[in-house]
Formats: sequence, structure tokens, C-alpha cells
Amino acid sequence: MTSFEAWLQNHVTPHLLRGPTQLIMKTYTNKLEEVVLNTRELSVSFEFFPPKTDEMEEQLWKAISKLKSLKPNFVSVTYGAGGSTRERTHHTIKRIIDETDLKPASHLTCIAASKEEINEILRNYWKIGVRHIVALRGDMPASSPNYQLRKDGYQYASELVEGIKKIADFEISVAGYPEKHPEAKNIDEDIDYLKRKVDAGASRIITQFFFDADVYFSFVEKCRKRGINVPIVPGILPVTNVKQTKHFAKMCGAKIPKWMDQIFENLDEKQETRHLIAGIVATELCRILHNGGVNDFHFYTLNRAELTSAICHVLGVR
Ligand SMILES: Cc1cc2nc3c(=O)[nH]c(=O)nc-3n(C[C@H](O)[C@H](O)[C@H](O)COP(=O)(O)OP(=O)(O)OC[C@H]3O[C@@H](n4cnc5c(N)ncnc54)[C@H](O)[C@@H]3O)c2cc1C
Repeated sequence: MTSFEAWLQNHVTPHLLRGPTQLIMKTYTNKLEEVVLNTRELSVSFEFFPPKTDEMEEQLWKAISKLKSLKPNFVSVTYGAGGSTRERTHHTIKRIIDETDLKPASHLTCIAASKEEINEILRNYWKIGVRHIVALRGDMPASSPNYQLRKDGYQYASELVEGIKKIADFEISVAGYPEKHPEAKNIDEDIDYLKRKVDAGASRIITQFFFDADVYFSFVEKCRKRGINVPIVPGILPVTNVKQTKHFAKMCGAKIPKWMDQIFENLDEKQETRHLIAGIVATELCRILHNGGVNDFHFYTLNRAELTSAICHVLGVR
């Protein structure tokens, strides 16, 4: 049996491969039923990236208009490492403040900037009404493997969190890596550094994307044992493009299971089918997380609403 068949049999439709139709429906309904009937207060948040062109801007605002009715806890906007999207992130955040009732969270990376430059950005954000920062170091430039962190800058995200709290009492979220950050020697060391970010004032951890719920549960357990008690919100990436996801995953240390290649096989030209399967895969992950007690979900929307809103619908967020 291939790993994909095993996954199907264990997780999605246990009897789809063999049973009569009635059995298929009953089994599948029972599985979803756990989520659909077990309604709890859930909190969701949505992540967007700042658009580069007018066309992308239009797509982003279509997504925001659709997703805002789901009353997210907050919506966040990414920020290029080294400040490459500084103006566009600012513009998007400002538009969210001016044109919606949504609570924006601005991502901020400290790599390649001085403390004073970062502090100035923070003061400006506070002035325009931003109260939540997703504090990040940012990736080392791929083109400079021996890149030296700036002496006059915040060296790591934990220092940035400390610096932010000195500027104003922002709410702060930070990044966590269930499969460890690629630069970390091991997961325990990575969690030690994660604890520094929380001790410095972060009140939420948002995880890197992952596709195996056990990886998340084991990460949470390790964090709790290490004394990290803030919410650890799973970052959900509904995958529609495996090639692109593999590229992201390589950079951030996330693993793409083998069955993912198989489930998306030969679908490059079949967008509709690809999207349906993407919805099934992401919903299944959320279902397992939900049944495992998760009440907060952060969606990497890639500026599209359809999949995220469908998954939210299943979770009872409507
Ligand atoms: C939810 C989320 C949102 C993101 N948003 C963005 C974004 O908008 N823009 C963007 O460019 N990137 C973003 N990233 C990616 C992130 O910038 C990279 O993963 C980056 O390489 C690390 O950032 P960090 O804040 O986790 O760094 P840190 O927490 O500083 O950790 C970086 C590495 O250094 C180690 N480390 C930490 N402290 C120390 C110390 N004191 N001494 C030695 N080693 C230490 C850690 O173990 C880790 O390996 C995001 C990631 C996530 C999960």
C-alpha cells in the first residue's frame, strides 16, 4: 500500500476504497460530524501579503471584503525581510484601518535595519492606530550565506519584542516552528529561544505551516513542558500549488509529505479539481486539530478567500 492509500484509509474516507455507498456516506458524515456538531467559540485570523500591482490590489480587496464577514480576531499583513515591502505593507495596513472595522496586525522584520529605523516605524504605526505587531527577525539573505547581523540592529526577534514594548504597549505575536527553524541546531534549542520571545512580552505564537497534525501537537506539548503558556495558533496553508509550496517549505524547514505529491498528481492544468482537493486536505487537517482541542486558527490566505472561507464554514465560523 502506498503512503497515500494509507493516508486515505486512515484519515479521509476509510470506506471509500471498498464499502457500499451507504457506508461511505455514514463514515464520512460521522467524521465531519465531530466538527460540525461540536460547535465551540473559535477564533480565526487571516494573513495577507502586500500587493505589487493594481490587479493584485484588487484581488486582495476582494478577499478582504469576503473574509471580513467572518469577523476575524485580526488580519495581518506581511513585511519583506530587509524592509523590501515597507511602503506597501504600510499602505495596506492604512487602508484596512481607514476602510474596514478589522483589527490589523502589521508584520515587522528587524533584519538589515537599525534599531532607530525600526523604532521610527513602530512610533508611526502606533500613531496611525496599529496596536498589534507580528515581530520577526526575517530570513538571512539567501545570496549571502555569511551574512552578519547588524550591530546597531535588533539581532533576534526576542530583542525586537523587548524593543517594541519600550516604544508602546503593542500586542505582540511571534513565529514558532513545529518542525524547528532551519538555522536552529535542534528543536529544544529553538524552543528555548521561542521562550525568550514570550518572556520579552509576546502574547501569542503563530506557527509556520505544517501538514501533519501530530507535529503540531508534539510541538505544543514540548512548549508547555518548557513553560510557554501563551496560545500557540496553528498556521494553516491551504495548498493549491505544490511546486510553490515545496519552494516555501524548503526555505522554512517544513516537511511536505509524500502523499501530497500523489494527491495533486497530474492536476497542473485542472484548476478546479486542484482547488477541491486543496479544500479537502486543509479541512481534514483543521478537523483533526479541532478535535484535538484547537480553538484558534491562523490562515495563510495568499490573498484569496475561497478556500479559507470554505474551511471556516466547516469549522462553524460563518
Ligand atoms: C507566522 C509567521 C509569519 C512570518 N512573517 C514573515 C514576514 O512577514 N516577513 C518575512 O520576511 N518573514 C516572515 N516569516 C519568516 C521569518 O522571518 C523567518 O522564519 C526568519 O528566518 C526567522 O524569524 P523569527 O522571527 O522566527 O526569528 P528568531 O526568533 O530570531 O529566530 C531565528 C533563528 O535564530 C535562533 N535564535 C533566536 N534567538 C537566538 C539567540 N539569542 N542566539 C542564537 N540564536 C538565536 C532561532 O533558534 C532561529 O533558528 C514569518 C514566519 C512565521 C512563522
